[in-house]
Amino acid sequence: MSQRGHRAAGRGAVFVEYGQVEMLRFTIIPVTPYQQNCSVLWCSRTKRAAVVDPGGDLERIKQLIDSQGLVVERILITHGHLDHAGGAAALAEQLAVPIEGPHPEDRFWIDMLPEQGRMMGFAGQAFTPQRWLEDGDTVDVGEMRLEVLHCPGHTPGHVVFFQPEWRLAAVGDVLFAGSIGRTDLPGGDHRALLHAIRTKLWPLGDDVRFIPGHGPMSTFGDERKSNPFVGEGSA
Ligand SMILES: [Zn+2]
Ligand SMILES: [Zn+2]
Repeated sequence: MSQRGHRAAGRGAVFVEYGQVEMLRFTIIPVTPYQQNCSVLWCSRTKRAAVVDPGGDLERIKQLIDSQGLVVERILITHGHLDHAGGAAALAEQLAVPIEGPHPEDRFWIDMLPEQGRMMGFAGQAFTPQRWLEDGDTVDVGEMRLEVLHCPGHTPGHVVFFQPEWRLAAVGDVLFAGSIGRTDLPGGDHRALLHAIRTKLWPLGDDVRFIPGHGPMSTFGDERKSNPFVGEGSA
């Protein structure tokens, strides 16, 4: 869809063509007792979609897909914790789509999904992704391309997905509005997490909006300035 506007400039008229300004659409669906932000990202031109971190509550995710008339191409996983990855295998089977991510260093978390489920009180199914992701990989969603950044620290194989044109990132449990991911679980590394945020996320730009794994959205700029754990005022 396009609109054409014009305005007078001197004696002539300047025509301004307005293209599509929002090719990337997304909806956040908090899932599981942990209110984990599953997100559905889609390309508005093609209605092709990716589901990021379907930890559970698959019926609600599928309702959104159906109501928007989306064709899901793939499931993307930021890291192997239950609230992010527990529903991936079932959703992949139901939609007949591949699972991509996380980085292979999270394999032990994925293998432990059933055990995580027993401890946390809701179901998680182990799987082997069709594609493990490495830093610098890309994944396509319709006509858009997402860049993959390996950001270890919360888990060793955590990845972040970044869409450069539309300035949006899905960061899982790396960074939150006003906080950062916990690092006291197996494979956690506080220094690595701070390093990843400072060297991988901040350089993407202050204007980048991000979907965190839990809680409200924010921008890298706001967090770089004021986040008490990794912002400019922190140690
Ligand atoms: Zn996590
Ligand atoms: Zn989480």
